[in-house]
Amino acid sequence: MSTFDRRYEQISRSELEQMQLERLQALLARLRRNVRRYREKLGDFRLQSLADLPRLPFTTQEDMVESFPYGMFAFPLREVIRLHSTLGPGGKPLVIGHTRNDLALWSRLVARQLSASGVTANDVILISLGGLTQSGAVGYVRGAELIEASVIAEDPLHIDYQLAMLQNYRPTTLITTPTNALDLIRAIEQRRVDPQSLYLRTVLLSRPVDRETREQIASGLFAAVRCNFGLGEILDPGLCVECEVGLFHIHEDQFLAEVCEGELVITTLAREAMPLLRYRTRVAAELCHDQCACGRTGVLFQPGPRLDHRHQVREISFYETQVAEVLAQTRAAGLRFHLTPSERQLQIALEISEDYFASAMWPADDPKRSIEAELLARLGLPAEVRYVEPRAGSGPAA
Ligand SMILES: [Zn+2]
Repeated sequence: MSTFDRRYEQISRSELEQMQLERLQALLARLRRNVRRYREKLGDFRLQSLADLPRLPFTTQEDMVESFPYGMFAFPLREVIRLHSTLGPGGKPLVIGHTRNDLALWSRLVARQLSASGVTANDVILISLGGLTQSGAVGYVRGAELIEASVIAEDPLHIDYQLAMLQNYRPTTLITTPTNALDLIRAIEQRRVDPQSLYLRTVLLSRPVDRETREQIASGLFAAVRCNFGLGEILDPGLCVECEVGLFHIHEDQFLAEVCEGELVITTLAREAMPLLRYRTRVAAELCHDQCACGRTGVLFQPGPRLDHRHQVREISFYETQVAEVLAQTRAAGLRFHLTPSERQLQIALEISEDYFASAMWPADDPKRSIEAELLARLGLPAEVRYVEPRAGSGPAA
């Protein structure tokens, strides 16, 4: 096993719980002092032990939306040195801030993840996450620097250029999205490149994939595959590691994890700029305290589906309500629709009746293409619209 922070990654349960309690008490004091929203929620509640945790209030995405942009910050803005936004409910932006200490901690947590993936100072890393300004890529760069691996400071979008970089720079680690990994495999097959002629040992994917996709990527790039699981509002990457056994461990020295009504709830224990108390992540999850063969003691975590109507197509996240809003301004207005997100595009089935084209309101041309163009322009979503007969039962209407 390769750990970066053995002291924390293999901490005993009793020592961990004592640390969590102390950090939680300090967190409550900071929240009460610096964030009005929490001061109101917490009242004069005093936490005596971790068993009191369920009596603490939740934080929801709606809290973050209502506090937009800086109402949840527990530090003055001048000490917040990094800002990034993430997608909130209904497509509203949420803003996340980091202090200098937050960024230093983030680097360490990503270094743990890279170490768990077998990355060392001897590795050369190519990061293809679609632009280095993406917050995830920045996290990987910082983590890689901490373990002194070499990072190629380019994030090429063009797939042939990526392939040339794999052949020329000989990176041993590729950090990328599942969509991009599959595009790369397709290019490798089309150009008749032998994947064994590349130097890749590890592919770290930005999000979990099913077993079939994992095997496809492992054989297509001839490398071991590890997955990240992150949440933009907390850390992505840096929330957990996928260990050598293939299980996710949450960094429990930093994140107190609970599952409430099937939903993952996270408390950030040491984050300065924007701490979150019992944050409802809208992700289904299971936690398991079994001892893992890898030796890490952080709680095992199995992420499930999202509990809101948020989907992802080609790494673009969106809410069903955003699609409905766009459709309502097209000729699909008023029609019922059904969404089926797939890896490459969003399938939209529009319910139309026989007289749809006969309607005097619209010219006789087929509006499918213009609806697709609108979704691409407004949400960046590749979509395919098809018509279906009205179904019994319900579907949302645009
Ligand atoms: Zn493990």
